[in-house]
Amino acid sequence: MSALTTRQDARDRLWKAFEGALDRLIPPDESVPLKGSRFTDFEDQVENLGRQLLPVALEERAALEGNAEVSNPGCCPFCGSARVYLKKKVTQPELLSPQGEVVIRKQHARCRSCGGSFSPSGS
Ligand SMILES: [Zn+2]
Repeated sequence: MSALTTRQDARDRLWKAFEGALDRLIPPDESVPLKGSRFTDFEDQVENLGRQLLPVALEERAALEGNAEVSNPGCCPFCGSARVYLKKKVTQPELLSPQGEVVIRKQHARCRSCGGSFSPSGS
């Protein structure tokens, strides 16, 4: 089992996402006017910043988990057989989390005994 990224790569991706979102919220160039004029505009802008950042943070945190990728699928959850193999195809389904849509790498395994399919990824 292993993580899909490193802490440094996860921090770099999240930091870049934050910098981009911050630049759109509060452009560093003083000649670029700030958007909006009412408090509700500011609320919307900050909400939008969160929608941009939170899914990235969630994806990176999940990818750091030690069981994000397995090399051995373990036993079949349906029949308990160890005659299980990992499929080569890895999918990246979009999941809807409370933080927004996130893309998570998902491995798939198949059981030679009962034919059942399952995802061995712990996270
Ligand atoms: Zn099975």
